[in-house]
Amino acid sequence: MRITAVRCFEVTGRGRQEPVEERQVGMLDSYPEFAARPVAARSAEGPLTARYVRVETDEGPHGLFGPIFEETALLIRRKLAPYLLGRDPLAGEFLWDLLYRQDRHARKGYEMLAISAVDCALWDLRGKALGLPVYRLLGGPTRERVACYASMLGYSLDPGLVRERARWAVAQGFGAQKWFFRHGPSDGPAGMARNVALVRTVREAVGPDIEIMFDCWMGWDATYAIRMLERIAEYRPRWLEEPVPPDRIGDLAAIRRASRVPVATGEHEYTRWGFLQLLQAEAVDVIQADPDWCGGISELVKICALASAYGRPVVPHGHSIHAALNVIAAQPPSVCPLAEFLILNQPGKQHFHQTYLAPEGGAIALPTTPGLGVAIDDAKVERRVELD
Ligand SMILES: [Mg+2]
Repeated sequence: MRITAVRCFEVTGRGRQEPVEERQVGMLDSYPEFAARPVAARSAEGPLTARYVRVETDEGPHGLFGPIFEETALLIRRKLAPYLLGRDPLAGEFLWDLLYRQDRHARKGYEMLAISAVDCALWDLRGKALGLPVYRLLGGPTRERVACYASMLGYSLDPGLVRERARWAVAQGFGAQKWFFRHGPSDGPAGMARNVALVRTVREAVGPDIEIMFDCWMGWDATYAIRMLERIAEYRPRWLEEPVPPDRIGDLAAIRRASRVPVATGEHEYTRWGFLQLLQAEAVDVIQADPDWCGGISELVKICALASAYGRPVVPHGHSIHAALNVIAAQPPSVCPLAEFLILNQPGKQHFHQTYLAPEGGAIALPTTPGLGVAIDDAKVERRVELD
C-alpha cells in the first residue's frame, strides 16, 4: 500500500454551539489592554467551520483526522505532504522520524501540531485497513469504558451558576470536574480572593467525594501560584494545572515543592524529550500531553511509557477526544486513569461527525468502528472546500 494524496479540506454548515459565558486567565493578562478584553462571542446558531486532513492510498483505505487548525492544514500541505507521497502508510515510526527531521524547526509548535495530525490520520488509516479500532492496534482495550472528567471551560463563574453546574456535572455521573481561574497576578488581592472563592464554591457544591481541579492556562507566576496554593490547599484540589508555561521547569518544580497540591502540565509541551525534562526535574505530578499536538498518537504512547517509569499518571489534554480516547483505552488504568471531556466545546468540535462520542454516566463506552471513528456526515455540510 502506498500513499497517493495528502489533502486538507474545510467544511462549513449550520449547527448549534453552546455560548461561552466566561474566559480563563491567560498569559496576555499581564497587559491591561488585554486583561480588559471581553469573552470572545460565538453565535449559538453557527455557522460552524472545521478542517480535516485526509491521507489517501492506492489500495482504497484512507485516514481522516480533525478538526485541525488553519495553520496546521497549511503546514501539512506545504511542508509535510511531499515527504509522505509514495510511502508505505503502515511504516509509522519511519514516517514520524522523516517528518520530525525534515525541518530544524519541526521540534515544537505548529509544525509539531501538523506532524501530530498526520500521525493520527495514519493511525486511522491503519485501523481502517485492518478493520480494527486504533486502541486494538495499540494493545488495548484495557477496559470497556473510559472514565471522563467534566471540563467546565467557558462557564460563568457567578457563584450561584457555579454551584448549579458543579452539581449538574456530579448528577451526570462525573467523579471529577475541572474549573478555570479567571484572575491572575495583575488582578491583585481582590482577584486572588475571587479565585479562592471559586475553589471554595466548587468544593462546597460537590461535597467531599468528588475530585476538583483548577486550570491557570499559564496565566500565573510562581510566587502567585504558591500564595494561591497556601489558600486553596484546604479544599483538596486533585491538581493545579499549568500555573506557568511548561518550559519554566524550575518554577514548576518550586511550586510543586511548596505545596501538597499536585501540579499538572503538558498540553503545551511536545514530544518525549520535552516531557523527559519535566520528569527529570520533578516538576510535574500529572502529565497532560495532547495527541493532537504533542506528536500524535505514536508520540503519546512513548510519553506514557516515560511517565509510567516515573510513576506519574497521564491524563491527556482533551482538545479533541478521539485520538486521546484510543490511547487511554490501550494503556493500563494506572497509567491513563481518565479522559478530559470539554462539556461546552465538544458539541461544536464534533458537529460534522456521523456519531457524537460522549460520556454517559461519566464514562465513554469504547466504539468498535475501525480506525479512530471519525467520519464526516455529508448531510451537515453546506460547503466543502479543498484547501490547496
Ligand atoms: Mg488546560
